[in-house]
Amino acid sequence: GAERIKTVLILMSDTGGGHRASAEAIRDAFKIEFGDDYRIIIKDVWKEYTGWPLNDMERQYKFMVKHVGLWSVAFHGTSPKWIHRSYLSALAAYYAKEIEAGLMEYKPDIIISVHPMMQHIPLWVMKWQGLHKKVIFVTVITDLNTCHRTWFHHGVSRCYCPSKEVAKRALVDGLGDSQIRVFGLPVRPSFSRTIVYKDELRRELEIDSNLPLVLLMGGGEGMGPVKKTAQALGDSLYNSKERNPIGQLIVICGRNKLLASALTSQEWKIPIKVRGFETQMEKWMGASDCIITKAGPGTIAEALICGLPIILNDYIPGQEKGNVSYVVDNGAGVFTRSPKETATIVADWFTSDSEKLKTMSQNALKLAQPEAVFDIVKDIHHLSKQQQRIHLYNDFSY
Ligand code: UDP
Repeated sequence: GAERIKTVLILMSDTGGGHRASAEAIRDAFKIEFGDDYRIIIKDVWKEYTGWPLNDMERQYKFMVKHVGLWSVAFHGTSPKWIHRSYLSALAAYYAKEIEAGLMEYKPDIIISVHPMMQHIPLWVMKWQGLHKKVIFVTVITDLNTCHRTWFHHGVSRCYCPSKEVAKRALVDGLGDSQIRVFGLPVRPSFSRTIVYKDELRRELEIDSNLPLVLLMGGGEGMGPVKKTAQALGDSLYNSKERNPIGQLIVICGRNKLLASALTSQEWKIPIKVRGFETQMEKWMGASDCIITKAGPGTIAEALICGLPIILNDYIPGQEKGNVSYVVDNGAGVFTRSPKETATIVADWFTSDSEKLKTMSQNALKLAQPEAVFDIVKDIHHLSKQQQRIHLYNDFSY
């Protein structure tokens, strides 16, 4: 007979833009590979079903990354296992009822967590409910290298690590070989499954097709030294002797409205576009020749697929630090915190150093893992088939 449609619940949180992008990548890949066999629900569960502090994570995160020292303390301060265990178990006891209601509403067959804080509590709740043998729980880690230990939980069916470095950490933390898979960071299929014609994209986006283009951004929240860098580029990409621009600039400010309005109200000597939160990042990246960004894993993985040389100008202490060496050591980009230096590098790339730009672009493409998200959903599908056989003669119900 016809097979039952399986429900997949993806747990994420709208902190930054990376978790949502990963969640959407997984959803889209399920759709492409398996059509309507899976019903995918993306939920910021904590926001909807629990009280402070979990539903407030977004605001707290924004506050902390703005005050980087605090975030650093929070990141490293909660690293010893006994600290986050007891902290989380206290929270779990308090919020169990709400989380339980959330799980019961969707009745997922598969739960995918793309957030470092979303393993312990749902797994505990599932255990209390006697669902841990029926529901498949997997973690998709979205930090490329130096990731937080709350990502690792022994109770998962799979822990998908984006890199060998992260897999090593998972092993050290006691996860078994059978739980760990390394496919790469999931990136939305719109980046890998569309053929890009730069000229056409530029026409569509109303961008000059003759001038080289640099894309400047700072994650979903528009963080890092974006404003100063834009201003420095405004100077470095203008040839004052010949009175013409040698390059053009797109700034994507994400949810940072203040940044967008500050940049829009300025006068520029070079062609520039200032944008807010964009939903089709693959187009803006596809139209560009290089990118300047903080070391967000999502943006980096996407830029690599687009073959964009990367200038990293900032990182969130803790989880993003390792992303810098990942890019730089593999020859796909450079790191500098100085807006002036950034602006000079781009100007050189667009004039005398164009060979370097080309080499870095090739290195970026070599590092790219456009198939990662498909490998992940195929593996989850495989787990689900195994599960189905085990429960063939059992009554599967909540
Ligand atoms: N992003 C987007 N639209 C924007 C700005 C960012 O879709 O206007 C996406 C971007 O493509 C990437 C994610 O948000 O997938 C940012 O993730 P990253 O890990 O780089 O940084 P975070 O914002 O999570 O700190």
